Amino acid sequence: SETTRSKGNANLKVVVRLRPPNEAEDNQKYRTVTHAISNHMLVFDPKVQAVPGIMQAKPRNLTSHRFKDLKYAFDHVFGPGATNREVFEHATKGVVSGVLNGYNCSVFAYGATGAGKTHTMLGSECEPGVIYLTMMDLYRQIEEQENDKTFDVAVSYSEVYNEQVRDLLVPRGSLPIREDKTVGVIIAGLSLHKPKTAEELLHMLHFGNKNRTQHPTDANAESSRSHAVFQVFVNQRNKLASMNSEMVMAKMCLVDLAGSERAHCTTNCGARFREGANINRSLLALGNVINALADNRPGRAKGKEPSDTSDTELSEIKAQLASLMQLVPMVHEIKKAYDESMTLVDEDVSGCG
Ligand code: ADP
Ligand code: MG
Repeated sequence: SETTRSKGNANLKVVVRLRPPNEAEDNQKYRTVTHAISNHMLVFDPKVQAVPGIMQAKPRNLTSHRFKDLKYAFDHVFGPGATNREVFEHATKGVVSGVLNGYNCSVFAYGATGAGKTHTMLGSECEPGVIYLTMMDLYRQIEEQENDKTFDVAVSYSEVYNEQVRDLLVPRGSLPIREDKTVGVIIAGLSLHKPKTAEELLHMLHFGNKNRTQHPTDANAESSRSHAVFQVFVNQRNKLASMNSEMVMAKMCLVDLAGSERAHCTTNCGARFREGANINRSLLALGNVINALADNRPGRAKGKEPSDTSDTELSEIKAQLASLMQLVPMVHEIKKAYDESMTLVDEDVSGCG
């Protein structure tokens, strides 16, 4: 089934990045189940797999395997060869001008553990991720406007783990969340920083990441349950306007979410589910928020609709949110097929031995 997505509304973008096989996957023969067939479409479990260079295990019984051959359209699909910079250019660059225009913006990396969320958001020493690239672009754009405006930029880096918020840059106990009438939700006592150089920012990001909650023996076991939230606060004032011209405040959140395997119940259990120990409640809450926004039922907004958002724009946003939600079952499908293909490989190997 092919989805159609409304084009032209820049309020929400959903992009998919397929990572290359890792060494362990490369060493075993396996079937690649997801392919980027264009910049905007991926195919899942295609009928004909003609991807050169990738060894494919045959399903044990070819006749019993029904290829799903599902096509999904997104704002962008990045293949395994894409770099963090390409992802940034096509996926999050626009967010920077959004923030500079005074809008609050968010970028979430969603996917199962091992899918490449941290690689994309944080990156490595040799390939800095989206957070770094976003900050560099923000600084560049600010420099261009500095004749007309004064800017004040500060960042914070925190973790949501086990329903508690911790500061990743000044590690101590958990921090309380408060709601302020004018500023909105604030994390009381969260440290704010103003990195002066690119190196300082990089160091800060990696220092913060090292402070993420980790399991003593298996780093991924615990970090996969935590969300890392990088926030950028931008205050700006027009220099040319009157002395007491209004300060424009906007904030940008760049989030490396917990592994989506913890969000399982959002799709399979419906709204009324029994909470299991394995479910990440904040990830579930995010899913519920997106579901609620995508839900067309009247009365939802309680008269608080932003006045400058037209009905058409709203329905487009809703359509886009609905398309975002298709990611959830898709990721599960892919994971299932992936596990299946690994099993098939095992069977093949034992058959040969
Ligand atoms: P997640 O944060 O989603 O659990 P990671 O970002 O830690 O996953 O990725 C798992 C592993 O795969 C890491 O070793 C990472 O370096 C590697 N990896 C992920 N995506 C890519 C990619 N696009 N190119 C190269 N290596 C990748
Ligand atoms: Mg990670």
